[in-house]
Amino acid sequence: MPSKNTIRRTSKIPEKGLPQNTIINELETKLQRDLTYSSGKILCSMCTSPHSFAKQIYQKYLEKNLGDPSIFPASAELEQETISMLGSLLSNPKASGSIVSGGTEANILALWAARNHAKKEHGEVIVPVSAHYSFDKAADLLNMKLIKVKLNHNFQMNVKAAEEAITQKTVAIVGVAGTTGLGVIDPIRELSEVALTHNLYLHVDAAFGGFILPFLKELHYTPLDFDFSLPSVCSITIDPHKMGLAPIPAGGILFKDATMSDLISTRIPYLSGSETKHSNILGTRSGASALAVWALLKHLGRTGYQSVVEHCLALTWKLVEGLQYIDGVDIVTKPTLNIVGIKSDTIDVYLLFQELKKRGWAVSLFSNYIRIVIMSHTKDEHIKRFLEDLKKILAELNR
Ligand code: PLP
Repeated sequence: MPSKNTIRRTSKIPEKGLPQNTIINELETKLQRDLTYSSGKILCSMCTSPHSFAKQIYQKYLEKNLGDPSIFPASAELEQETISMLGSLLSNPKASGSIVSGGTEANILALWAARNHAKKEHGEVIVPVSAHYSFDKAADLLNMKLIKVKLNHNFQMNVKAAEEAITQKTVAIVGVAGTTGLGVIDPIRELSEVALTHNLYLHVDAAFGGFILPFLKELHYTPLDFDFSLPSVCSITIDPHKMGLAPIPAGGILFKDATMSDLISTRIPYLSGSETKHSNILGTRSGASALAVWALLKHLGRTGYQSVVEHCLALTWKLVEGLQYIDGVDIVTKPTLNIVGIKSDTIDVYLLFQELKKRGWAVSLFSNYIRIVIMSHTKDEHIKRFLEDLKKILAELNR
């Protein structure tokens, strides 16, 4: 049976091509149903409107194909520079890796490397229950089993439970630096110690937090250890198309060094030059994505990203403060990043979600809370309007 989300629509390529304007008009009309970041109504996305400079670069270099470094050697070199810049953000400028399609692909590549590193069939990967669904996809693809461990009272991976879950079959441990649901940072330092003791591969999923945590120190927040400065960290996912403001698709997978990325490399002899090897899932892949990230890192610099983080965190605290004055709702936990979980003791969160949706708000529904993500497209007035609507909805529902 087709799923509820399946769109049943058939279409045909026109016999004779249509004028560009006609097509653009049709697209504009059809796309009106999509939400826009500029409306401020999107409070559920970990992506945002890409930076205008990155869009410019992306558009300019659409023909670049990183799958064939023999014809695009300069692009390939700039991708490696991009990885080194990201590596320097994560305490390892010598990191090896690629700009990939997103966090899902990056996490698949990490588990692929971990599996080949351990040389074990049907291996087990220990993840927190809060890990992103991309690990379920990765485990299925790679014929591995996820062992999901419970969280502690701070919604972080329970390190004791993680250590107890280690068996002969364990291939890797995964910690998350910025969980999808609540933006929580797992105790990566402690996980690194466990991984060191048991000689295990440690992957850190910092798809969201990777562009936030390195800037917290400058903003006078206590920095949390999560990167290559910890001895067992073998790979990190960091997504430029989330808090990095890069155009989609732009994920990042960084390995500690080239011996790690070589674990998943394949020689491609037909591409001119026997040196060509891929450490990716894809063959042909976007050079424009990597070049846009390269350009944006240079253009914004550390201070530019600090400002983005500062803006998002300031609004997050504004939201948290505003929520205190609304009867019937509470935060799930004090936010570490720009993600807030809202729960209610009196109202079913599903009902609340539906009412917010009726008023045009796009928020995410988790099992017992609503998730709000404050990104760079969110402005002060959007938070104010959201709080007003929430207050009205709760007053009506509680009546
Ligand atoms: N990892 C984390 C922590 C995420 O929050 C997400 C997506 O929200 C992903 C991985 C997957 O990223 P993508 O949607 O870019 O594949």
